[in-house]
Formats: sequence, C-alpha cells, structure tokens
Amino acid sequence: MRKVAAVTGGAQGIGKAVALEFVKAGYEVSVADTDKEAGMELMEQVRSLGGKGMFLPVDVAKETEVERWFKLMLDDFGRIDVLVNNAGIGVNGPMLELPMESFDRVLNVNLRGTFVCSQQAARAMKRQGGGVILNMASTRALMSEAGTEAYSASKGGLLALTHAMAVSLGPYGIRVNAVSPGWIETADWQKASNRRPPVHNERDRLQHPAGRVGTPADIAAACLYLAGDGAGFVTGQNLVVDGGMTVKMIYEE
Ligand code: NAD
Repeated sequence: MRKVAAVTGGAQGIGKAVALEFVKAGYEVSVADTDKEAGMELMEQVRSLGGKGMFLPVDVAKETEVERWFKLMLDDFGRIDVLVNNAGIGVNGPMLELPMESFDRVLNVNLRGTFVCSQQAARAMKRQGGGVILNMASTRALMSEAGTEAYSASKGGLLALTHAMAVSLGPYGIRVNAVSPGWIETADWQKASNRRPPVHNERDRLQHPAGRVGTPADIAAACLYLAGDGAGFVTGQNLVVDGGMTVKMIYEE
C-alpha cells in the first residue's frame, strides 16, 4: 500500500536524512521548510532516487502556512501516514540577557509549531484510522548547560507533549513518540565544532561510549523504526539516540 511521510525542517541536516530514508523505504514524502532553495534541491534528490515528493516553503510557527501545507499535501497525496516534527531552532546565550523575543521564537517554532502540525496530521490520521507522529526532541531535554534555557525548555515541553498526545490519540490508532538525538554531525554542528580548538573535538568523541558523535543517518534509522509496524506497541516513548552520552559520568581531570 502507498505510504506518505511528512517532514518539517526536512530540507537540511537531520530532517533531510529522514526524508531520504523514508523515500528509500518506499514512502512518498512531503517536506515543509523555510529554506526554499534547499527544499528544491532535496526534491531533485528524491526524483533521482525514483521517489515522489513535494516541497512547500512553510514556517511551522505560522498556522496559516501549516494549514495550507496540509491542504495541498492531502489534495495531492490523499493521505498522511507519518508526520516527523523535526523543524527546530536554538538560541544560546546568557540567561540574564536573553531577549524575550528570542525565547518566544524558539518556543513558537519548536513546541507550538509541533502542536499545530500534529493537530492537522491527527485530524487526517483519525479519518484514515491511524498513523504515526514523531517529535524531534533532544538530549537537552534531559541534561543541560548554561545558556540553553529556551531550547531546553522547548525540548522538555516536547517530551510532555509526546506523552499527552500519545494518550489522546491512542484511541484513533495513532502512535506518538519522541526521538532525542545527542550530538549529531550536521553542517551547522561541523561549522561550530571547527571553530573550537581540535582537542575539544577529541573530547567530544570520547564523551560517547560508542566512540563517535552521531550522524543524521543514525537519527533517520531510528525514525524509520518508530514509524514501522515493528514498533506497533511503542507509544508515548522517548528514544534517546546519543551513542550513550547521557549515561556516561564525566569526571574533571
Ligand atoms: P539544521 O539547522 O541543520 O536543520 C533544521 C532545518 O529546519 C533547516 O532546514 C531549517 O531551514 C528548518 N527550519 C528552521 N526553522 C523552521 C521553521 N520555523 N519552519 C520550518 N522549517 C524550519 O538542524 P538539525 O541539526 O538538522 O536539527 C534538526 C532537529 O534535530 C531540530 O529540531 C534540532 O533541535 C534537533 N536536534 C539536533 C541535534 C544536533 O546535534 N544536530 C541534537 C539534538 C536535537
């Protein structure tokens, strides 16, 4: 049977890997992202894999844009089987100087945007008799460092939202889970880590029992598992994909 996956923030980084993983698994994909150029490039990649995809420039913090995306998606594809709420931003900086506009923007994209998209998807999934919603949280929901208040709060909120939505939507055959990536080597991460002294890159690696930082492909594989029938009894959970980073105790030398 045809299956359709929708991915927010799917034009780059983790979301792009997720979208391509679903295409390779035979899904048709609908991608929403604020970056139009990257979205169009992704669609070329989807076509070169022989897949079907649609891209729409969408800011998930704007309800009217999200509503339009779902209308076009459902008109074109006729159904939605999986929604991956991946779009996310972070603003790091000293807590005492964080402007409230920055706090609001992070919450609006990461948390409110996830709820708005989930509401749209769940209405269609209820009509269809089921579906899967995945929320991209973060290990920052579980552990923190100074200056990540807005981001950490948004991701912690996503875990609570995941629990509540799993309970509300279970009766309609809709499973809801979160994925919490650890340190994932995306282009942005690479840019940031290259600015550090190299010794920090080695320290980053050693912080992981798995002996390496993660890749977008690690997260895409987790999403495909949670979307599939093999995870049919898994709902309301948070799958931490971090190479064991959050279970390792660190001692200062
Ligand atoms: P990224 O910046 O490489 O990609 C994010 C994508 O989301 C971009 O294509 C961007 O254009 C899009 N986007 C941003 N704001 C948007 C909006 N308002 N509406 C629609 N699209 C929007 O980031 P990434 O590292 O791939 O992260 C993806 C998700 O994974 C985020 O939710 C992030 O918080 C989470 N995450 C990432 C890491 C990591 O180490 N990279 C770790 C934990 C969690």
